[in-house]
Amino acid sequence: MNAESGMEILLESKEPTTRSIEFIRRAGERLGLGRGIINDMINPQKVTVFRLPVKFWGKVVVVWGCMSLHNDARGPYKGGIRIAPDVSIWETVELSRLMTLKTAVMDIEFGGGKTGIRADIREMYNIFGLKERDRDFEEAMSLDICEEFAAQFKGLFRDHVYVPAPDMGTGPAEMAFIYNQTLDPASVTGKPEGVHGWLPGRKESTGYGVSHAAKRLLEDILGLRVEGARVAIQGFGNVGMHAALFLAELGAKVVAVTDLYGGAYDPSGLDIQALARHARKAGTVAGFTTSITNEELLALDVDVLLPCAAGHVLNEENCKAVRAKGIVEGANMPTTLEGMDVLVERGIPVIPDIIANAGGVVASMEEYSRSLSALKTRREDVLRTVTEKIDESLDAAMQQASEQGISIAEASVQIAIDRVYQAMKRRRLI
Ligand code: GLU
Repeated sequence: MNAESGMEILLESKEPTTRSIEFIRRAGERLGLGRGIINDMINPQKVTVFRLPVKFWGKVVVVWGCMSLHNDARGPYKGGIRIAPDVSIWETVELSRLMTLKTAVMDIEFGGGKTGIRADIREMYNIFGLKERDRDFEEAMSLDICEEFAAQFKGLFRDHVYVPAPDMGTGPAEMAFIYNQTLDPASVTGKPEGVHGWLPGRKESTGYGVSHAAKRLLEDILGLRVEGARVAIQGFGNVGMHAALFLAELGAKVVAVTDLYGGAYDPSGLDIQALARHARKAGTVAGFTTSITNEELLALDVDVLLPCAAGHVLNEENCKAVRAKGIVEGANMPTTLEGMDVLVERGIPVIPDIIANAGGVVASMEEYSRSLSALKTRREDVLRTVTEKIDESLDAAMQQASEQGISIAEASVQIAIDRVYQAMKRRRLI
């Protein structure tokens, strides 16, 4: 359906039909938008492919990346920098499209963008002849990659055309390196404590928002209590770990957590503080207690399942095996289009990524707009803003969903598309 994209013609390759493309198409049709306008909502406005010669330990390591500036009708292109071994152009385009939808459904004044840098840190071990896992080496490498990226594109950031932030494989330290290049506190969000324009609470804001979305799912949709609710979490990075910590604080029982290297399972509830200490030291949740695989975790009999790691982990097949009562998408696009159809058919409610994990970009908006202030916003205030924005959007999406007989995920895309369309029309961009 996503035909007539100038990019597809130039690339001579077809974008796979993703959930966001299909949901935008359906939403556009419900809103009565024409085919050309719907395609304008689907396609990115600008995509740049770039080469980064990274100088490291006396060698030059070349990595490639892609920056997708999807839509800036409602504000500067906004979205994280992902460093991963399997980054592709279409995946980056899809992630940037999700940012347009996320900022619009959350009603914050940003557009959508994303950067994907294809680098296999483990392959770097071979290049530099390292045998053992070395987390300092991994961090130094991703810092240098980001520094080179920022050196090439600092003008875009300084002009607030595109305002980057962390994503998979990057964090506050990398954002400090971007700031070093621009010396503008509003040019990048997710900066670490003490760096000009940083925001208390930004680091844990995504995981916090995910835990709040899980609370809403349990209480308002499933009619359960958070205290004692059984939760399984895929991923223990910045999103999964903070979601687990906040949910444990609320009295939920996190029974299983997995990451790239293994898993931890305790049917009576894991000690999340202790697990976080273990993971900080070991670099993985594996080895903490009884192990569990990813596939086992996705099929666990729990109240809520939180996929907080990679994309496309819940597909047509394993969605048939899901036994969770509801799902909160902590990661971006963890459920495929076909997987979503199965969940809808089975009556398993899903709070979609563009609301569930929007806490990060909501805090980014606060960080961006307050970056010049000498008065630091308090962490509690930032987290309260995240709660309010998620509640507002979720309420609107739930209402739209029940009025139109569609899923919350489809309703959120429809709200977003309507807002983007209105802004494009007012600005005569369409
Ligand atoms: N990478 C995060 C996301 O996917 C945060 C983006 C931002 O704050 O710009 O929402």
